[in-house]
Amino acid sequence: MHKPLRIASAVAACAVAGTVLYGTGAATAGQSTANSTHEPYNIGQLSKDIDAYYGTTLDADGVYQASPDSPYAEDLARADAAARKQIDRAARAAHHGHTRPAIVFDIDDTLLLSLDYEKKNNYGYDSDTWAAYVDRADRPAVPGSPELVRYAEKKGVEVFYNSGLSDAQRSAAVENLKKVGADVNLDTDHVFLKDKANPPSYLSHCATPGTWDCTTVEYKAGTRRHIERDLGYDVVANVGDQYSDLQGGWADRTYKLPNPTYFVE
Ligand SMILES: [Mg+2]
Repeated sequence: MHKPLRIASAVAACAVAGTVLYGTGAATAGQSTANSTHEPYNIGQLSKDIDAYYGTTLDADGVYQASPDSPYAEDLARADAAARKQIDRAARAAHHGHTRPAIVFDIDDTLLLSLDYEKKNNYGYDSDTWAAYVDRADRPAVPGSPELVRYAEKKGVEVFYNSGLSDAQRSAAVENLKKVGADVNLDTDHVFLKDKANPPSYLSHCATPGTWDCTTVEYKAGTRRHIERDLGYDVVANVGDQYSDLQGGWADRTYKLPNPTYFVE
């Protein structure tokens, strides 16, 4: 609740400063500003901001971890609280009616935190080192997310996973999810991973055996449509760290978890 207030006061402060500068005329003369050339934010500074946001610390095993009292954890807690309310609403509605509520979770940086990989690779991506990292099945949890999975299960909201990880990474993903306590519905009927060689028929609008042309949004929304249309659930909540996890419909509400470390189109 304090965040909009902080933004409002910052805007007010800028307005005052602008008035003062305008009034004194030459106060800014000779200053070179980033705004005049649209110079992007400095990447070294951004890297420090990201560390501060996660409260990044190196643990005894040499793994970068997010701090439980970081702004990141605070933002996660806010999204989690909103999702829990939606789970409660759905549980009440299911109790009174005939709906079959479901919740859909992305995996990377929604349930399993990749901060250690990202920081050690300067927030870049390399398919070989990434695959090796995923296969270690040793990522820490995104704080609060396994608890949210278990909360949904407790309330009778069916848990599904909708991830861009490949089907070849299934055993590592399942092992890692178990390890962090997201041990709910980790079977092939609930964990949807990308099988480019043999795509399911419900993705036939963008993929057929041998040809994969699905964008992330087509793949993920197509999977949610399958959960609703073919499996008969009502997806009441969709949780992801990328906008491409959340676009394309087939969910009553979406919950965007923070992730300033990469962008997936
Ligand atoms: Mg993700």
